Order: sequence, then C-alpha cells, then structure tokens
Amino acid sequence: MAKADWGYDVKNGPEQWAKLYPIANGNNQSPIDIKTSEAKHDTALKPISVSYNPATAKEIINVGHSFHVTFEDNDNRSVLKGGPLSESYRLSQFHFHWGSADNHGSEHTVDGEQFSGELHIVHWNSEKYSSFAEAASKADGLAIIGALLKVGQANPTLQKVLTALSAIKTKGKRAPFTNFDPSTLLPSSLHYWTYPGSLTHPPLHESVTWIIFKETISVSSEQLAQFRSLLSNVEGEKPVPIQHNNRPPQPLKGRIVRASF
Ligand SMILES: [Zn+2]
Repeated sequence: MAKADWGYDVKNGPEQWAKLYPIANGNNQSPIDIKTSEAKHDTALKPISVSYNPATAKEIINVGHSFHVTFEDNDNRSVLKGGPLSESYRLSQFHFHWGSADNHGSEHTVDGEQFSGELHIVHWNSEKYSSFAEAASKADGLAIIGALLKVGQANPTLQKVLTALSAIKTKGKRAPFTNFDPSTLLPSSLHYWTYPGSLTHPPLHESVTWIIFKETISVSSEQLAQFRSLLSNVEGEKPVPIQHNNRPPQPLKGRIVRASF
C-alpha cells in the first residue's frame, strides 16, 4: 500500500494505516467511544459560538473516500469560538462519514451505541497559524465539531448538499457550492462533549480539539443511500460506490472527556 492509497477496505483500511502512519497507535487518536458516566461536567466550558457567513461557501469536491464542502478561509468571515477553545478557529470545510447500512456509520459512539453517520465541520487556529496546512499538525491547530446522524425523518437542510452530489459522482470532480451556512445543519441544543484527539483518517495528526454534540441530527434512509451512491473511482473506470468511510473507536488511553452540561 502506497501512502496515497489508504482507504476503508480490508487491504487499505483502518487496521492497515499504522504501517504507513505509526501515529495510528498514538495516545490521542480519534474517534472514541464516549462513556457518558465517565465524562466530567466542567463549569469552565463556555457555550459554542459559531458565526458562519454563507458567502464563504466555495466548492464541493469528490475526494475519493468522501466529499468535502470547502470554504474561503483567507479572512475571519466564518469562525468558531468559545466552548473549550481559547482562540478563534476559521472554517475550512465540512464532510460526512457513513456506513454500509443504516445501523452504523458514525465514527464516535456513545456508550457503545453507533449512529448512522457523522457530520464533521473542520476549523483551524487562525490566531496562531497562517494556513490550514500549517495548523493541521499542531497540537492546538484544529477544532472539529461533530454531529451524530440518527436515521429517521429526512433532513431538509441536508438536501442542498445531497442534490449537489450528482455533479461530482467520481473522484476528483468538483463543482461550485455557494451561499450555504453549515450551522443550519447543527442540532437545536449545542450541549457538547470535548476531548483532545486526532484526524480520523491519514495523516491522523493529533491536532484536533473535538467538540461532539449530545443532541443528534436526523437523516432519512434515502438520504443515507445518496451518500453511498457517490463513487470512489475516477470517471471512465468501473463504478465503485463509497459504501462506508468510518474509522472505529480508538483507545482512550487516559484522556478525560469533558461535558458542557
Ligand atoms: Zn471526518
């Protein structure tokens, strides 16, 4: 397996990543199982403050193992503050994880319970670093907010994203994606758990302050099927749907999960 060829199959999936990325066995890996009875309520944790300008939405891109919705991040028009963060973090992109069936697909689990998928909104510390690339490997470089997707009612705010997938069916395709505020995807309550962790796929940098919402967001079975209809192959090759792209929970290794509630 070459470094660029990681994926989620038996041959190149999470069990193999450590061969090329030894940090896969590190002390601060993500995702984790959140054990609610062991999470420590911390009165010092502030409310989450998201301020996203829809005009910063830029593109939707098929990256082969998933798709990203990207944002212009050359100024502070779209930022995440508060919560466990002492600095301002600039919005970079959001993406989803899903599974091959509706009863799994999330990366984080709660008391062992798997959810149908997970939304990740990725931000970088623009007070200390000059770019996402520079921040991505620093301990305080990234902040990702995660929302667990629970199968049920169709989620109307997801529809614009899902409709856009038809323009980026194959790996490497990109299309404009404008005028979108990802905070419309968040649950109504922003109570959260937080812990120090990592990117959940290579290069697996241990650079992420994770913020996971207690309240789930809804997704329908049909919407989950639309995620799975995206293809991992380039145009003209045999169609290979992206059936799943979720890493299983990693050992906590003594880390404390804090709760805002
Ligand atoms: Zn992710």
